[in-house]
Amino acid sequence: TLSKRLQLVAHYLPQHANFVDVGSDHAYLPSYVCSQDLQARAIAGEINEGPYLSAKQHVAAFGLTDQIEVIQGDGLSVIEGRLVDQVVIAGMGGTLIRSILQQGATKLFHVSRIIAQPNVDAPEVRQWFYQNNYQLVAEEIIKEDGHIYEILVADKGDPTTPYDENQLERQLFFGPYLLQEKTEIFIEKWKAEKNKRERIVTQMHQAKMINYEKINMFLNEIKIIEEVLVRDE
Ligand code: SAM
Repeated sequence: TLSKRLQLVAHYLPQHANFVDVGSDHAYLPSYVCSQDLQARAIAGEINEGPYLSAKQHVAAFGLTDQIEVIQGDGLSVIEGRLVDQVVIAGMGGTLIRSILQQGATKLFHVSRIIAQPNVDAPEVRQWFYQNNYQLVAEEIIKEDGHIYEILVADKGDPTTPYDENQLERQLFFGPYLLQEKTEIFIEKWKAEKNKRERIVTQMHQAKMINYEKINMFLNEIKIIEEVLVRDE
C-alpha cells in the first residue's frame, strides 16, 4: 500500500485529475491515483535513468500505460507541449522544489494547483508561492516511520490571502495554517528544530568556527521558535 504521506498528497488532487508528478521515482503516486480513478491522467517525470526505468516497468506491470505517460527529463520540462492541471513535487528538499518551480515557471500557465511535499526547507516553497501568485490553501504536517513531513497545497490566486501583514515572516517560516493549528506533531518538529540549531551553534563555538552571519541567523530562528513554543505551554 501507498505511504500515508503520498496518500495525503493524493487526497489533494481532484477527481479526474490531470497532473504531473515530478520526481516520480517508481510512479507509485500516479499508479495509486490512476488505478482508483479511470479518468485520471498523469505524467510521471523522472530525471534519473534508474527511477525512470522502474517507473516505466511499474506502470506497465499495472496495466496503466493508457493513463500514465512516463517521461525522462528535468523538472517541469516533461510537460512541455502538454496541458496539465495539477503539479505534484514530493519527497525532495524545499530548495530543489523551489528551483524546479522557478525554472518551469513559464510552463505553469495552465496549472491551477500545485501540491508540494518538501522534506526540509518548506519556507522556500511558501516564499515561491507567495511571489508567484499561488495562494496557499492548505497545509498538513504528519509523522510516518519516525519522520515528520509537511505538505503544502497552493491554487492559482491571491497569494496574500492566508497571511497577515504583521506576521508575514513568522507565517512563511512555520506555515500560516500549521501555526494556527499547532498540532502535537508541529510542536514536536519545532522542539527538534530548536535543539538542532542550538547544537550547531554550540559546535561552531567549540570548533572556533565563528561565522557570525550564520550564528546570528540560527540565534534569530531559535528566538522565533521559542516564541511559538512558549505560547503553547
Ligand atoms: N516523489 C517520490 C516520493 O515522494 O516518494 C520520490 C521521491 S525521491 C526521494 C526523489 C526523486 O526525484 C528521485 O527519484 C530523483 O531521481 C528525482 N529527481 C531529483 N531531481 C529531479 C529533477 N530535477 N527532475 C525530475 N526528477 C528529479
